[in-house]
Amino acid sequence: MRKPNFKAPKDWDRRWLLLAELMASFSKDPSTKVGAVAVRDRRVLSTGFNGMPTGVVDSSFRLNDRDVRLSMTVHAEMNVINFAARNGVSLMGSDLFIFPLAPCSNCASSIIQAGVRRVIVYDYVIPQRWQQSFDTAAEMFSESGVALLRLPEKEEKEPEEDVSNIRIENPTITPRHQCLKTHYPLDSVLSIKPTNALAWSLDRLNMALASILFLLLWKAPHAGNSGRSISASRKTNASN
Ligand SMILES: [Zn+2]
Repeated sequence: MRKPNFKAPKDWDRRWLLLAELMASFSKDPSTKVGAVAVRDRRVLSTGFNGMPTGVVDSSFRLNDRDVRLSMTVHAEMNVINFAARNGVSLMGSDLFIFPLAPCSNCASSIIQAGVRRVIVYDYVIPQRWQQSFDTAAEMFSESGVALLRLPEKEEKEPEEDVSNIRIENPTITPRHQCLKTHYPLDSVLSIKPTNALAWSLDRLNMALASILFLLLWKAPHAGNSGRSISASRKTNASN
């Protein structure tokens, strides 16, 4: 069984923007492919992408002639609203996710009238030819109380725990297997290991030398006595 070859973003807004991106890929527009998704309570209400109205022939001539294309194309946002209306679905209080462009002023009018609560887009650079229309749309949203969110494309990662300042108590007497069971990263364990091993070896060497010295000092007088007693017994034997 095949699994999805991508990981869903943690943030739900970005999840719906991903779906809007997928909808954009359905568009046959050779210049700009736009997708939109209306969502409420984490459920999809309607989807849309830019293209000719249903039944209108989208021939390559019409698609490739800019003036003809622009005069016939229904924008993705309008398709979302139209299909919701066709199916008797209210968009009141919904969120509208659009990829990759923010709405034009014409679509903004219908978005406001449909009762959309928030419009969410990525923080992309707006093409110069659309700038004025988008500025007008943003002004209309602001006045009518529709929130326009422009998300940065990259999701901010949660900061990882900084372990560089963690001190390991008595590292020289911590057995390796215990180190590996703690939450310290393996790198930090390995980085203190050579120093520990050296300190441990020197410790043991000192103890061994001290033991040998002690034994020599302790044995020396006994060895002398025994030597003297043997020679004394030899002398005794010789005199006998
Ligand atoms: Zn539009």
